[in-house]
Amino acid sequence: MHLDFSDERVMAVVAHPDDAECLCAGTLGRAKADGAAIAICVLCRGDKGQPARPIENLAVVREKEMQAAAAEAGAELFEGRFGDGELADGVAQRAAVVEIYRRFRPTLVLAHWRDDYHSDHRAAGAVAEAASWYCASAGHRTESDVLPCQPALWWMDSMNMSGFEPGFFVDVSDFVGLKRRMLACHKSQLKRADDGDFSPLEEQMLRQCDARGAQAGVDAAEAFRIHAAWRRARAW
Ligand SMILES: [Zn+2]
Repeated sequence: MHLDFSDERVMAVVAHPDDAECLCAGTLGRAKADGAAIAICVLCRGDKGQPARPIENLAVVREKEMQAAAAEAGAELFEGRFGDGELADGVAQRAAVVEIYRRFRPTLVLAHWRDDYHSDHRAAGAVAEAASWYCASAGHRTESDVLPCQPALWWMDSMNMSGFEPGFFVDVSDFVGLKRRMLACHKSQLKRADDGDFSPLEEQMLRQCDARGAQAGVDAAEAFRIHAAWRRARAW
């Protein structure tokens, strides 16, 4: 089966500035190469991801890092600007993401898995999913026009593959270089390699796409599950 993203508009909704790199940047790169429009929506500012020697104005530094990473991928960047560790599935957060969907008009949303390790990831997944319904609901008004239909939604792999049973794999063998170049933009986080509560990012990213690749019989892969809810599932 050949997956063709050429007519799609693909948006990854992630919690933190460097999450897309680990979980879906290869798929975004592949979609872009097919001719799709791609976007990354980062909901938290990354303001608490401090290395051992704290960085002043970390949220500003990380905004520049995520802008550089998005530019590397040719992705449009949207920001929720919520505080790290403060993201919850609430009315204001849903409305913010509904408006972001209405500006980018995605046909496919990539969202964090419900059992991922970090509460911001779990909240981001819940908000992304709820907003994928309301963005096409005329009763939910935001600044931009209502969408004609809901985008499809795929759940992304969890960080370190914990508790995630893949539904299918996307071959990203040709896009590992892109994942590495994007991750290299997050210099503030690469300094955290020695933190006890933080694993070396690049090593983890490569291990994950290698392992998923091994399961799928290719050099590197990213794993997803289809969200089989009404109007969020599509035949491909
Ligand atoms: Zn994260």
